Amino acid sequence: MKSERQYREDICRFGKLLHDRSYIAATDGNLSVRLDSDAILCTPTMMSKGMMEPEDLVVVNLAGRRVIGRRNVSSEIAMHLLIYKLRPDVHGIVHAHPPTATGYAAAGLPLNQALVSEIVISLGCIPLARYATPGTAELTQALEPLVPDYDAILMANHGVVTYGADLLQAYMKMETVEHFACITMVTHLLGRQQLLSGEDVRKLVVARERYGISTPVQQGVGCPVTADAQAPPVAHASAAEDGQERFSVTREELMSIVKDAVRNTKRRW
Ligand SMILES: [Zn+2]
Repeated sequence: MKSERQYREDICRFGKLLHDRSYIAATDGNLSVRLDSDAILCTPTMMSKGMMEPEDLVVVNLAGRRVIGRRNVSSEIAMHLLIYKLRPDVHGIVHAHPPTATGYAAAGLPLNQALVSEIVISLGCIPLARYATPGTAELTQALEPLVPDYDAILMANHGVVTYGADLLQAYMKMETVEHFACITMVTHLLGRQQLLSGEDVRKLVVARERYGISTPVQQGVGCPVTADAQAPPVAHASAAEDGQERFSVTREELMSIVKDAVRNTKRRW
């Protein structure tokens, strides 16, 4: 078991890593460690998490009241307390704004597709919590339904929160989320996604136990989305009985075709 001093040094080290990797800017982000059943060591508000000294950190009780420290505690302390309350297995939490993953959160897109086997094993998928004003009870309400089942959550129009058995696990999950967001973005740039099948995902879920990962993967609620649930290919052609070639398109694609046609007609007039 580490001493409080070592936990303080850990938080400063991972805060610097978040800053060095541009996962946070200015005074963004916050980190915490559960010291014991009624003491949480947390980063202060209004300070760069890349430039903290161990003495800058604050200890609060489970009611969020400061018991040690000169600075004011993070404005997101309620989010940390919620996660510690709902997840007795969690001892470290990281909140940051890594640009690619936060881009997905700002686009209203969860990272919930079965695109990479390692992600299915490590995180299952990364859902998107609805938007809520930072530092308010709305934010904890938005996260509450997702915290028991996921170890990483996108926060709409805001950022990402990850947590684990210790601060290192929580930090590495933040790296994993941002890396997966980059990979997902590349598949969008390539214009093609080849999702794993439901059977592939089931095998990976079994493999999770071998890695000691116990957080359940929520299957059957579209997370992760597998090839089985994927929309039909664009303008899929098939030969009908009457010999006519038929195409199937999604509603979005149809709307886009109609809009283009209307735009072209207007131009001609
Ligand atoms: Zn934030």
